[in-house]
Amino acid sequence: MLDEIKALDKEYYMNTFGERLPVVFTHGKGMKLYDDNGDVYYDFLGGIAVNALGHSHPVFTDAIKNQVDKLLHTSSLYYIENQARLAEKLVKSTCAEKVFFCNSGAEANEGAFKLAKIYFYKKGIDRYEIISLDHSFHGRTLATVAATGQPHYQAPYKPLTPGFKQIAPNDFNAVVDAVTDKTAAVMVELIQGESGVHPMDIEYAKKLREFCTQKGILLIVDEVQTGMGRTGKLFAHELYGIEPDIFTSAKALGNGVPIGAVCAKAEVASAFEPGDHGTTFGGNPLATAAGLAVFDIIESENLLDNADKMGKLFRLKLSDIMAKYPDKVVAVRGEGLLIGIELKPEIAKSVFISLHNRKMLTSLCKGLTIRVAPPLNITESEIDLFIDTLDTVLKEDI
Ligand SMILES: *Cc1c(COP(=O)(O)O)cnc(C)c1O
Repeated sequence: MLDEIKALDKEYYMNTFGERLPVVFTHGKGMKLYDDNGDVYYDFLGGIAVNALGHSHPVFTDAIKNQVDKLLHTSSLYYIENQARLAEKLVKSTCAEKVFFCNSGAEANEGAFKLAKIYFYKKGIDRYEIISLDHSFHGRTLATVAATGQPHYQAPYKPLTPGFKQIAPNDFNAVVDAVTDKTAAVMVELIQGESGVHPMDIEYAKKLREFCTQKGILLIVDEVQTGMGRTGKLFAHELYGIEPDIFTSAKALGNGVPIGAVCAKAEVASAFEPGDHGTTFGGNPLATAAGLAVFDIIESENLLDNADKMGKLFRLKLSDIMAKYPDKVVAVRGEGLLIGIELKPEIAKSVFISLHNRKMLTSLCKGLTIRVAPPLNITESEIDLFIDTLDTVLKEDI
């Protein structure tokens, strides 16, 4: 089947993903993905931090099957039971007081930008600029590209949406210098995922929070990748001991069913009044059934605890690998089950490909860092399988 799908993809699909890894998966179970030959792969990437519960989780699958049998979509003209209940869940489990659902991470960030802008607009204050960080990733829409601090994503789309600028991360003076009387918000990832798993300094994060409060600027935390248990807390800002004015969620929130969320303090959220923002699909009965099931399973299976414990164990075992191969492994970074393994530049790509050939799925960030973001219910023996394979790769293949 692979050859046929490759040919169809080449002929009909826009070439935004280029030569993909030569595999097509037909089904999955837990950490395992099966290709069309029946070969088994281990999903240490979790669909890029999406499949928090692993594949075909029975309780999750039942929940969305039940919803499919009942109702998929009605429109936002009517009240939606699951939407209201999932909003309640998010509010009761976080520092947010109001929630809005959409369909993706980028769309959630767009919602956050709009909310930040309209918040000042409704007050009659002329603040509209949004400051974000170098090496950040906030999505692929025009505004989120303007916020994404990576020139190669921005260059083809100039002129960029105005009102965005980027500064160096972990440099408090850079924020102080960048803020003007037009600044509406600062947006950050507490762990920059896409650029290679770079956790923000905790002191910087705290100072930034304080500074934004002092200046009357909103702090937006993009938790699209770090949220829903990925770091061992429900949201990474809990790890940092700070409360954003707005934070966004997506990826793991639906465990593979597309959903995003804009979460905010009530005072900020009140700027959105009827007609100011909207969506056709966002928060529909199916997507929010998925979100509710994710919440239930995270709670009933104690997955925050597991992500924390297994994450620590994973990073410990990776540090041993780093100690064993000091000329190959440069750093191990991360929190919970969002982990980056930085390698020497000359070997990184081959390590990534070797892991793939040995059936371990990861991603390679910036050609340097292997990112793993496995399901939150990962076990120690699955971690050992990865560690042993990485050990073999570094010993025999490289
Ligand atoms: C993946 C990601 C996004 C974009 O999410 P999409 O669902 O692809 O639009 C935004 N921010 C961060 C931090 C991400 O990791």
